[in-house]
Formats: sequence, structure tokens, C-alpha cells
Amino acid sequence: MKTSESFSISNLMKKSSQNKEVSSPDKEEGGPNKEAGGPNEEVGSPDKEADSPDKEAGSPDKEEGDSDKEADGPDYEAGGPDYEAGWNKAFSHVYVETGVLEHPKTQRILSKLAGSKVIEIGHYKDVFNRSGQNFKIQKNSPKLVIARRTKDFCPLGSPMCDSFGNSRFYASSQMMNCMLDCDYCYLQGMYSSANVVAFANIEDTFAEAERLLPAYICVSYDTDLLAFEGLTGFVSDWLRFCESHPGALIEIRTKAGSFSALGSRRPQENVILAWSLAPDPLIKRFERRAPSLGYRLQQMRKALEAGWRVRLRFEPVIQASNWRELYKEAALQAKIALGPYWGNLEDAGASAFRAPEGHFKRMRKMNKSSEVYAWPMVEADEETGGVVHKVARYSNDEEVTRTVERFLGL
Ligand code: SF4
Repeated sequence: MKTSESFSISNLMKKSSQNKEVSSPDKEEGGPNKEAGGPNEEVGSPDKEADSPDKEAGSPDKEEGDSDKEADGPDYEAGGPDYEAGWNKAFSHVYVETGVLEHPKTQRILSKLAGSKVIEIGHYKDVFNRSGQNFKIQKNSPKLVIARRTKDFCPLGSPMCDSFGNSRFYASSQMMNCMLDCDYCYLQGMYSSANVVAFANIEDTFAEAERLLPAYICVSYDTDLLAFEGLTGFVSDWLRFCESHPGALIEIRTKAGSFSALGSRRPQENVILAWSLAPDPLIKRFERRAPSLGYRLQQMRKALEAGWRVRLRFEPVIQASNWRELYKEAALQAKIALGPYWGNLEDAGASAFRAPEGHFKRMRKMNKSSEVYAWPMVEADEETGGVVHKVARYSNDEEVTRTVERFLGL
């Protein structure tokens, strides 16, 4: 297995000593003191906590009289995360900018959503940025918006993200938001809407990417592009781009993606498929609607067997009750599941939970009952490439990251 020098984000960033404690939700709420770095049974019953946000937010699915199984999302274990059956239900309404109505990508997407109501709009921000939206409630019934991206096709990669040693690091978001609902998702701090946006004009993204080459481009940070592949075909578009542009190296990160979405495509040297993993008990608590660890490992193994470059990430590592035991067990499960292919991994690693400070407060406010936010966080000024940025992170985040890395044998 190739090892990345950037297993620990903390190793990449020079930190200022100006750390101050971010007000702990526990302290604010008068809860019991939680020791930083230690599992604490007093945090409360994880199962009860996992149940409560749904009950609080209300479940439109249940209100509509559907089964619990449907309300939980696609049945991954029964054949994979195939949204085809659920798209019409999930995307009951599709808002389309007039300017992309005739775009072939729009036509492709609409052809898959025969039962959805299509509403023509002037600009996606009229829907996506409107005031008074509730991100959590919208997650229960997201709508799709098809638009034209006019700028920021391939911005520089965030200093919060791992460049894996690539100096020309960019990120590209052909879509915004995804169908999962993770308690720790930074997108809920970034966007006022949980609706999903697909930018039809990927040809303009490619024109910009071409100008930037050679470049390392992460194309699935603000969404789960592989999970949407049956609907959008954006992954196939990127693979074709990489075929004709050897100067490109792309990472496609996924939780819910199915390897079969790539069809019979042959592995490409300049494409890395990356899976974000978590222990099953934490998936159930914090990654609602996401497939199990076993399912994700199965997809990784298929990709490795087929000869693809595959990255394994425990990211973000969440401190929760018994987190050390849970991640130790999950790392072992990964080694067993990948078996002889473990050594073929491109790299493996972990990163403790952290978020841009500006987004963190909003994220925590929206997930007050989640154990994700029960551990003390600190505010820190960090520097990457000469740029100082504020992050909220665990006071012991290096130890958290290193602990899981050790479980992975790093
Ligand atoms: S899979 Fe990623 S983008 Fe989707 S909700 Fe979870 S953290 Fe957010």
C-alpha cells in the first residue's frame, strides 16, 4: 500500500498557539462535563439521540403514510444504493433554469424523472438562496435544481482539505448537496438549502480544468457524485475527460456510490476512487441514509479487484461513546473485507472531525441533540500555504487522528 504523507491533517497545517475554547454545547446546556478525548457514557443514550432528530424534525415520509423502510432511504443491502426507484419520490419537483432547459444534460436528467413536476425558473439562486428555508426539514424531501454554473468551475482546494502532496490542488462541484443527511456535514453550515443542484454545463468545467492542467482535482466534495451517477452521468463525463487529459488526476469521493455505476469501464491511471468509512454504530447515529460499512467495503473490494486506484478514509473521525473500540473494530473489519487487496490500496488514512469556524456554529445549532457536538471543541487559527483560516476542532484532534491511523497499521 502506498502511504500518503498527509494521513494527518494536523501534520499539514502549522498551527498558531492562539487557540481558544469554542463554547461547548454541553457546558451551555449545563450537561455533565465531558473529558476531551475520552469516551463518556454520560453523553446519553446514542440510540435515543439518533432517534430524536427525526422525531423533532418530523418525517414527511411517514406523514405521507409510507413505510419506515422508505423513510430510511434506499435499501442499500438489497442490491446497492440505486436511487432510480426513489428519485421521482425524492425529487418530486425539478426546477430548471430556462437557459439550460434544452441542454443535453438537462434532457438526460429529466428523462430519468418522468414522474416529477418540472418548473422553469430564471436563476437557481431564486430557489436555492431564498430566505426562510429549513435545511433539516428539506433533507426529508429535497428538490432538484438544474442550473448553469457561470464561475468558480475549479476553485483552489480548501486549506481544510488534504491535497495528498499535490501542489496544484483544485476542487470542482458539478453538484451541490447530496441525498444523505450526516450530522457533521459542513454543507449545512455553507448552504441555506438542502435542495440538490446539478450544473448541466460540465463542458465549461472541462474548459477551465483544461486550462489548469496539470492538476489534482477533487470532483466530489460537495456532493456524492458516484451515488448520482445513474441520474446525471457526471462521473462518466469526468472519466472521459481524464482519458484524453493525462495531466489530470481526479479523486471521486463517495459514501453511497455503487461500483457498478461505472459499468464496464476499465481502470484509469489518473482516477482515484475514494471511500469515506465509519464504524457501523456511528453510521446509524450520524450518517442517516448512508450504506453500512460492509456495503462500502464490498464496493471498494470490487474496485480493487478490477484494478482501480482506491483510497480509504476514516473521515471525519467522530468522538462518541466508545469511539476507540468502534474505530478499532471498523479498521479490523476493513482489513478482513479487503483481504489480499489491502496492500493494493492507494493509501489509507484518517482525519478527526473539524469544520470551518464560521460554519461550525450553524452546524451545531442545527444538530443540538447529536452526540457529534457533545465533545469540547476549540477554535484555532491555522495556516496552510501562507493562508490563515479559523477552524473548530477537537482540543485533542491530533491524538484522535493518530489513534485511528494506528488501528489502520500506519
Ligand atoms: S455524504 Fe458528505 S455531502 Fe452528503 S450529507 Fe454526508 S457529509 Fe454531507
